[in-house]
Amino acid sequence: MADVRDAGDVVSGRPPAGPAGRVNGRLHGKEKRMRLHLVAAATAVLALAAAAPAAPASEPPTSIGGGGAAATVDRLATQAATDTLRRGGNATDAAVTAAAVLGVTEPFSCGIGGGGFMVSYDARAREVTTNDHRERAPRAMRPDAFFENGAALASNAARYSGLSVGVPGTVRGWARELRAHGTISLAEALAPAIRVARRGFVIDATFAAQTQENLDYFDDVPATAELFLDPDGTPRDVGTVFRNPDLAHTYELIAQRGARAFYRGPIADTIVQTVQSPPVAATANHVFRPGVMDARDLRTYTAPWRPPVHSTYRGVDVFGMGPPSSGGSTVAEALNILEGYDLGALSRADALHLQLEATRLAFADRGEFVADPDFHDVPLAGLISKDFAATRRALIGETAAASPVAPGDPSAFEDGAGNRAGEASATSTRVGTTTHITVADKRGDVVSYTFTIESTGGSGLVVPGYGFLLNNELTDFNFDSTTHPNRVEGGKRPRSSMAPTIALRDGRPWLGIGSPGGSTIITTVLGILVERIDRGSTLPAAIAAPRASQRNTATTVAEPAFSESPEAAALAARGHQFSPALMASGAREIGAATGIEFLTRHGLLAAAEPVRRGGGSALVVRPDR
Ligand code: GLU
Repeated sequence: MADVRDAGDVVSGRPPAGPAGRVNGRLHGKEKRMRLHLVAAATAVLALAAAAPAAPASEPPTSIGGGGAAATVDRLATQAATDTLRRGGNATDAAVTAAAVLGVTEPFSCGIGGGGFMVSYDARAREVTTNDHRERAPRAMRPDAFFENGAALASNAARYSGLSVGVPGTVRGWARELRAHGTISLAEALAPAIRVARRGFVIDATFAAQTQENLDYFDDVPATAELFLDPDGTPRDVGTVFRNPDLAHTYELIAQRGARAFYRGPIADTIVQTVQSPPVAATANHVFRPGVMDARDLRTYTAPWRPPVHSTYRGVDVFGMGPPSSGGSTVAEALNILEGYDLGALSRADALHLQLEATRLAFADRGEFVADPDFHDVPLAGLISKDFAATRRALIGETAAASPVAPGDPSAFEDGAGNRAGEASATSTRVGTTTHITVADKRGDVVSYTFTIESTGGSGLVVPGYGFLLNNELTDFNFDSTTHPNRVEGGKRPRSSMAPTIALRDGRPWLGIGSPGGSTIITTVLGILVERIDRGSTLPAAIAAPRASQRNTATTVAEPAFSESPEAAALAARGHQFSPALMASGAREIGAATGIEFLTRHGLLAAAEPVRRGGGSALVVRPDR
């Protein structure tokens, strides 16, 4: 993840833009003050980066300027996006181009074996659209698909299997977006990624750590081992060049024949084969259970447009992703709860108490009510209504509530089914992977795009000969229940937490943000909005701020910088308990956000993580000098 950097003579990329501190003398008043804050934030961030071995030495996590902007976890992807913008492409063109590169450089987080949600603002039409290319369960799947002998499979047995693989949506989503909003062809969008896949890039510590955490399963699958492991069965070495000619070839087939090359014919057939009979070595020390996907599941896959979730927060219009993602509605509900307080006038600890309580309550509702709207009647208007939020706000006291708290609509419990929202579900506490791209173009179009293969390393199954990992998205169902609204069903999409977000102010684009991190995505996006809107933090400072995530569980997951802060001590006195965030890779961090802000007077500010996941990359087409 992150900072898989250009291999120099291997892939030639332009040097990154100058450091964030180089600001422009043409600025006035508030903007100038803001940029001075940025200098301070960037300096602090660089100091932090210097202390953390995973941090890149020279990558600026913030850029300011004009002509368009992009932010991702990876410089090659961000660069591909800004190159596309520089050549006259729009935000959709640049987002798909960057996504295709990330499919090469971030193969454990995202790619054509997975799915995602794209939220786009079209400046000319003044319209927000959202595309759902979430993976879908094969038609033949039943609610007890993950049960054996009356009990649900353990999480790794469910995950590393053909069973967990949903019909991938990414290619269909890219094609639909480009056709609807783009100016370039899918072939043009794939070209930079094909180059990176062929020429290679240098493996960094994050990439190696992500391989390492999957080693015991990757080495069971010859196609996966061949791609990601050295012949001695260890991860490929940091500093060596990684190439993926099979993926380059797969992209070329798609470039030549369009999305249909993926959904029918040899690629589709090999996906089906891989899912139905996972190609595992005789020496494997794990069982990879077979799935039931067939050619028709791929052929009939659709990537529908969904209505965006629209809410307001202190006069800002916030647009997010609706069901099957719970991202948009849960961010909106928590914002609505918080709108009843003047957070900016409170101490930081008091405001954080309210924020943690708001997400505790909103997660109870998310858990109970949000699932694929094609299968379950989601009370979306109620979830995001101000009046409903007022009833939830009334429950917040001076001290932390004891989780699980109940959801807001008691009638939802009437059937007495076993899976109430407060119960820890298979997906309630996991901190996952995924990646987020934010792009804006010179016309004011914005794309906020989160896409994933679910866990870091997905199902562990590389499609032989085609160079990409299949997702394990179906473990995002409440697969341990046959009655929950988010239970497994044939043709259904599992509930997501992805929360690609676009905010407008005074009817104009203002912010695009998003993050990976499983269900912590929601609390990360909310936290960035609150930091930026209520605390007046700059976007880079809002992204860099220490994170905690309360998702209706007894303890609040927190980064060390949060749990060691004076605010955490004050929160502990109010009954909050913190537990460490822990990625499988050993990193104790939450999310890896990117964002873009349209500055008040002119220009764009692109921001990525300074430290998390090794630091991201944010560039503008014409940097201010
Ligand atoms: N599968 C997760 C979701 O859709 C995203 C993956 C992650 O970040 O863990 O909510």
